[in-house]
Amino acid sequence: MAIKLLDDRLINKIAAGEVIERPASIVKELVENAIDAGSTKINVYISGGGIDSIEISDNGSGIPYEEVALAFKRHATSKITQEADLFNIDTMGFRGEALPSIASVSRLELYTQYGTQNGVRALLEGGQKPDIEPYPTAPGTKIIVRDVFFNTPARKKFLKSAVSEGIHIHDIISRLALSRPDISFTFANEKKLYFKTPGSGELRDTVISIYGQDYARNFLDLEWSGEDYTLQGLISKPEFPRVNRKNQTFFVNHRWVKSPMLSRAVDEAYRGRLLSREYPAVFLFLSIPKAEVDVNVHPQKAEVRFRDEKVIFRMISHGIRDRMDNSAHPTAATEETGSEFQSWSNQTGNLDFLRGFSKTSGNYMTNSAISFDRTGLTNEIPPYKALDKIDLIMEDSGFAIIGQCFDSYILVEKADGLWLVDQHAAHERILYSRLAEKNSDAESNSQVLMFPLAFDISSERMDLLEEKRAIFREIGFEIEALGPNSAIIRSAPPQLQGREIEVIGECLELLEDERPIDLEKEISAMIACKQAIKAGQNLSRQEMAMLINDLLQVKDYKNCPHGRPTMIEINRLDLDKRFKRK
Ligand code: ADP
Ligand code: MG
Repeated sequence: MAIKLLDDRLINKIAAGEVIERPASIVKELVENAIDAGSTKINVYISGGGIDSIEISDNGSGIPYEEVALAFKRHATSKITQEADLFNIDTMGFRGEALPSIASVSRLELYTQYGTQNGVRALLEGGQKPDIEPYPTAPGTKIIVRDVFFNTPARKKFLKSAVSEGIHIHDIISRLALSRPDISFTFANEKKLYFKTPGSGELRDTVISIYGQDYARNFLDLEWSGEDYTLQGLISKPEFPRVNRKNQTFFVNHRWVKSPMLSRAVDEAYRGRLLSREYPAVFLFLSIPKAEVDVNVHPQKAEVRFRDEKVIFRMISHGIRDRMDNSAHPTAATEETGSEFQSWSNQTGNLDFLRGFSKTSGNYMTNSAISFDRTGLTNEIPPYKALDKIDLIMEDSGFAIIGQCFDSYILVEKADGLWLVDQHAAHERILYSRLAEKNSDAESNSQVLMFPLAFDISSERMDLLEEKRAIFREIGFEIEALGPNSAIIRSAPPQLQGREIEVIGECLELLEDERPIDLEKEISAMIACKQAIKAGQNLSRQEMAMLINDLLQVKDYKNCPHGRPTMIEINRLDLDKRFKRK
């Protein structure tokens, strides 16, 4: 075949394949244009999951009459003019690709009115030349996009149900609204109003409009500024943990970004404040000089590159940590005025330790009424007949249980030092190791349920469940769809008894995270975490002895399945040194 240049319509259609993946991409592009046009109000209405129609109106600058035709040409943009501008971008768009791409795969109407000019209307169908005429309309711009992919049936086939496409749009418009608390966003789906943000400039107001007051209550305000950088946002209180990182939203210079590095910095800030498998929720805004960051790595991916990752990492982990430390301080925070001891304990951590110790001194050595049955441990561990012998065995092996403090940590004396064992992490490690052993020799860890369990599920998750069905089967779940929004569990791993639906939900949540996971390991860790004794549970001496004894049998006993330490060791020599005995 002879080589030929492609015509514009075909070029646009090909480009649309990259820019416009699904209706949510259209919403993103059009809302970003509205933001770039300086709007203070943006309304988004969709129907049929955005496949049938998307209507976006703004009160921004509008487009001059004479430029309307140009706006639909490829690489036509008002946002940059020269190469140097590329390194100093402060608009959301600049490639001049969105309008021609969207117009090439839909039926589009545009209404706009600029300055003192008269209004204008443009009609386009499948990327044909626009039909433009004067038309009275409100200041700003309104774009209606209908029948997405009507002329590219192959692409249309890849769309999910209207419900899932609607969920994607909801996600995108929520993030855009969060990214600009100074703009009032309205979002309605099938004529139902989902949210309207006030545009007050306060992030908290935006979060309340989208997620509700009850959710917003769980967050502390964060404000930190250095010479060139500022960090600002909302961070969840440690007592409000989430099961995955889906609730961590990052914005760099008001643009939503995805960044594993930023998540790690947040993890670091919360280290020691959350249990394993617990994650904080954050809405974090980072402002950094444009030269320090590249947010345009790829137009459709929200990737970001920092010139100096270490500085950013430190700023976030320290900024958040400081804020949480201050919130525990009665003079610095409005919330949680604690006991009279609190102000001391902030000055010296050691006092904190003593305070807890004396508080529980009445019972940390006494036998508790709580038996291991309640923790589910007896299901997993062969019953110890001669419990009282355990203490002896322990002492023979050079370990002696001193007691429990804060109902959470077990103190163990050894010849060369002291252990502070986190009872939850330790028990988790023991259960996890046992499960791993079991899984490796059993050919299948699945049991048919006497009463199959039906449950409701969103269509988005239903799709995911279908997609991952083979993996679920491998780990022992037999699940079938009952309808578009319900499914039924027929078989499940026996250790999950009573928690099957909950665990499926958590697995799906993990899978939604888009990071590679080993589901089998995750499930074992989940089972272990659920069955493990919690912090805050008083233990008898024998229970403690059993736990420590079991822990010592396990490989890697110094870390829990998620890598957190199960214990802190205090070396005897160090102790002597600190007391200036040496
Ligand atoms: P880009 O945003 O990369 O410049 P687009 O194809 O999205 O490219 O838009 C082309 C041009 O159309 C923009 O540069 C802008 O001048 C104009 N435009 C698009 N949408 C709007 C709007 N809502 N308000 C004002 N101008 C707009
Ligand atoms: Mg644009």
